[in-house]
Amino acid sequence: MTAPEPSELAYVPFVSVENMMKLVHHIGVETMLHDIADYIEADFHRWELFDKTPRVASHSEKGVIELMPTSDGEVYGFKYVNGHPSNTKEGLQTVTAFGLLAAVDTGYPVLLSEMTVLTALRTAATSAMVARHLAPKGARTMAMIGNGAQSEFQALAMKAICGIDHLRLFDSDRRATEKTVRNLEGSGMTLTACTTPELAIEGAQIITTCTADKQYATILTDNMVGAGVHINAIGGDCPGKTELHKDILNRATVFVEYPPQTRIEGEIQQMPGDFPVTELWQVINGSAPGRVSDRQITLFDGVGFATEDFSALRYVRDRLTDTGLYQNLDMVADPDDPRDLFGMLMRSKG
Ligand code: NAD
Repeated sequence: MTAPEPSELAYVPFVSVENMMKLVHHIGVETMLHDIADYIEADFHRWELFDKTPRVASHSEKGVIELMPTSDGEVYGFKYVNGHPSNTKEGLQTVTAFGLLAAVDTGYPVLLSEMTVLTALRTAATSAMVARHLAPKGARTMAMIGNGAQSEFQALAMKAICGIDHLRLFDSDRRATEKTVRNLEGSGMTLTACTTPELAIEGAQIITTCTADKQYATILTDNMVGAGVHINAIGGDCPGKTELHKDILNRATVFVEYPPQTRIEGEIQQMPGDFPVTELWQVINGSAPGRVSDRQITLFDGVGFATEDFSALRYVRDRLTDTGLYQNLDMVADPDDPRDLFGMLMRSKG
């Protein structure tokens, strides 16, 4: 491949929300979830290559704004994401995001993308990829506690990747459950709306908690969790924001993305700093055990890590060229003489 002309590098492909939605429909949502899960898993295989750091968080009374950077040595990426649980009361979303990829050898950006939709896809793909390794064999029923923006994506990923065909739903706001049921009608899953979390988890082999509340919440207590289940706890992702009673952590084998970040943000923030955890990348490359018995409780303490966003952006970049679903943004100044930025500015005066 010949190196791009400098002027070509001045234009950065931008994937708007509208084009992201067209891309999802073009590929098919379940196929895309499957593909992104494979990209995420492939990058977990290359784990040691990546620059890793806990995400950089700016906390405020109502929420958090975070930057999530990483690099594999060839490509650099970051995501900007917020988490504001009270936003929905104002008609705004809890989570919005955008992200960027850049070439490490020049530092020039190569992709800018909306990531609100893409984050929901990548979070669901990650959950299902992890469940593919840890959930009990033959799992068919999932309890979905928290029926907000992420919930349908979580359900469809678990269907496409793990074969879940029965969903038991609970949310403290009945309207959220009604919305999820409406959206998933015709998906091929049996949907059961439940009035309590206890009812929702009945007979479920996978329990997903994906609630938003800026507090130490107790969505699941210890007596609710039976032997052998897989818990996909993804809603608690901030200091002071958890979903599980800590007694559950003492009974479960806990799997995490990147321990230095999860110890700050995950369910394990409730535990001592040396609380034992298994790193996902080691399960994925076979150097650490995943599920070892039918009665074991496996717990994915998922907070979302930068490599997962990197994988999702990498997938979008790879799928863009043959679809044309992007606009070229005039985003990087491109003076004829790279040292004459000021001259370019003056000549533009006309
Ligand atoms: P959302 O605000 O759209 O939905 C959250 C739902 O939780 C709401 O319907 C709310 O009524 C419900 N809820 C709140 N408290 C509850 C309780 N005690 N019991 C039952 N339901 C309750 O938010 P979302 O976009 O779906 O995100 C959910 C959570 O997931 C957020 O905390 C977000 O930060 C987190 N998240 C994590 C990741 C990750 O990678 N781990 C990625 C995206 C979002």
